[in-house]
Amino acid sequence: MSTTARAAVFFGPGKPFEMRDVPIPEVEPEGILIRVSVANICGSDLHFWRGDAPLRYPEDGWIYGHEMMGRVARLGAKVKTDSLGRPLREGDRVAYTYFYPCRRCYACLNNEPAACPNKIERPVGPSVFPHLHGAFADHYYLRPGGYVFQVPDALSDEAVAPVNCALSQVLYGLRVAGLRFGDSVVIQGAGGLGIQAAAVAKDMGAATVIVIDQIPGRLALAKAFGADHTLDLKEVPDRRERVKLVRQWTGGVGADIACDFVGFPAVIPEGIDMLRAGGTYLEIGTISRGAKIELEPSLLVWGSKKIVGVIQYDPWVIPRALDFLVRNRERWPWDRILSHKYPLDRINDAFAASEWHNRETTSITRAALIP
Ligand SMILES: [Zn+2]
Ligand SMILES: [Zn+2]
Repeated sequence: MSTTARAAVFFGPGKPFEMRDVPIPEVEPEGILIRVSVANICGSDLHFWRGDAPLRYPEDGWIYGHEMMGRVARLGAKVKTDSLGRPLREGDRVAYTYFYPCRRCYACLNNEPAACPNKIERPVGPSVFPHLHGAFADHYYLRPGGYVFQVPDALSDEAVAPVNCALSQVLYGLRVAGLRFGDSVVIQGAGGLGIQAAAVAKDMGAATVIVIDQIPGRLALAKAFGADHTLDLKEVPDRRERVKLVRQWTGGVGADIACDFVGFPAVIPEGIDMLRAGGTYLEIGTISRGAKIELEPSLLVWGSKKIVGVIQYDPWVIPRALDFLVRNRERWPWDRILSHKYPLDRINDAFAASEWHNRETTSITRAALIP
């Protein structure tokens, strides 16, 4: 096996990715070297690329990206099984977490690994072990403690790639928001997360799913993924009118759950307005530090409304997400989630094409990089 991997290294917003050779690390007894098969460009990757939040980049750049799947290239000496105890061999297709709860903090001790504040490392350069820190490379190093799951044969590589980020994130988020059978759900933003959230909400028993966006192609896709109603911001530019429509579609009471999958916090107060009394707002989209909104807290108090924030998920979600895809593979057009494919060395084109902020005509939902 070669001793180096090919990686797309990022040097900061406005600068192109550069393809570099990066050393393949010695695999620790409990580590796993993975040959990446598909790496998707996630909305949060676009935030970094665009420079929405200030971030310090290492001198030697940063290999990032996290939404991916691959094959086991080399197993650590002590790894015999996946995280469910099923035998694992080199060459097996796997889905895996890309974050590492520390097991040494108050959240971890309380069995809330998704809330572990130490589970994501700060950007470190490819010179730092284990060198392969992200998805935009032909190999990824799953560190000791990472969770790994065999992938059912019924699913294609492309179908599995969104599992460890978008799909698991929405599945866990809707669980934390307390989605119950018969609920009504408002989804703000019909990108990769929002589209999959529509399907997951239906599968979890939601009676009414309403998806809001401003790109007609995305709203059509939301319909194909189970949305009962779609709301085009361009067609209904008045916010009060939109809230009224949601109320109409929810028997006059408002939604049980509303979710931000947009990534721009200005949408949050409107989503909270769309909730019924006692409803829950699920905040996932806004990851950029420093972004602010004005909020009237009395609306939460008098409306008995809750806001829950969720980043990543507990590891039990991945096998359930895979099961969800297997049992619903005929029900929704999964191949339409992935709209474009690029070879890894065309990553700069792939990011440019994925950019949708201020360019509302694009129909790209998820671009995949194939190393
Ligand atoms: Zn992501
Ligand atoms: Zn922890």
